[in-house]
Amino acid sequence: MIGGTIGHRSVRIPKLLRLVESRSASIDELAGIGQGCRFLVVHSGEASPTRYGEAFTADARAAGLNVEECLARSNTDEWVQAVRGAISRVGPDYVVGVGGGRVVDVAKVAAALDAIDFISVPTQASSDGICSPVAVMQEANGRPKSLGARIPVAVVVDMEVLSRAPLVTWRAGLGDLLSNLSAVQDWRLAHARYGEPIDDFACLTAEAAALSVYQEGADLQDRQFREKLMRGLILSGISMEMAGSSRPASGSEHLISHALDQLLPEPRHHGLQVALTTVTAFILRGEDVSALIRFFRGLGLPVHPRDLGIETDLYLRAVRMGPELRPGRTTVLDQVGDEDVRSLADALERIAGRSSAS
Ligand SMILES: [Zn+2]
Repeated sequence: MIGGTIGHRSVRIPKLLRLVESRSASIDELAGIGQGCRFLVVHSGEASPTRYGEAFTADARAAGLNVEECLARSNTDEWVQAVRGAISRVGPDYVVGVGGGRVVDVAKVAAALDAIDFISVPTQASSDGICSPVAVMQEANGRPKSLGARIPVAVVVDMEVLSRAPLVTWRAGLGDLLSNLSAVQDWRLAHARYGEPIDDFACLTAEAAALSVYQEGADLQDRQFREKLMRGLILSGISMEMAGSSRPASGSEHLISHALDQLLPEPRHHGLQVALTTVTAFILRGEDVSALIRFFRGLGLPVHPRDLGIETDLYLRAVRMGPELRPGRTTVLDQVGDEDVRSLADALERIAGRSSAS
């Protein structure tokens, strides 16, 4: 064969990323995207505690933008269809998802299905779905399921509205971002053991995004740290676009979390579940987790199932069930046997003992 198999590749990333300080500044950014364009703003109306989407729409209209609006109250297929109905009525140039993770995901999926460009305007930093090609939808049985969509063309973040989001949303975002450290390890393992192709730059990006917030003195109330977390979540989404899958941001820790989604009568916050399962995944890899545990505890993130009110027995069932949740995604869980689960139970007991002693 003449010539090699390696060359450049193109990755689709958003053209615009703006972190601004007010609603009016966000609307200025939207205006900059296209004065003559028609926007369909998707928001959750009065279901939103800040009612940001309603105010955003009203202000955008007052600023002379051509804006139509549509509600999405939950991340179900019904709401996706409602948004698609609005898309076919309005014929927008852009779909703008304004709200928390669910609203952004519904708008993202509907826009992808109708091949309309999507603009992400998150009001919470609770997951890496803000700027990813993946969305989480709620199935008819109430359980969450990941779905491929399209990465946004622009991300506009109003840090002022984000500052009003509950602290738990920041904790969840941090958990989802740090889970990359585990996911990348799983990918490397699958590559080394089974020759699964690995994307070095997706790994580099996912890991660098997580490491940017894994630092001493991290403070979830601090404005600069919050901005760093937001940028990290966005970079994490871009690593998935590079990989063409969620691989760099979803490994064994996400599989255990997906199992918890099936087993728990009421699943906990996704980002909190994956924070907990990230600690577990590192224990299963035989790594020293003391620094990670200190870091998580310092920021109020869970390290033991009981921190989320989950029984250890049920949790260990979720660990065993993990590989069934996504056959083909090789992770450390594929190598976990009875002995490892017993060692994990012992490790959890030690963690619990240490926290009650402190
Ligand atoms: Zn996640």
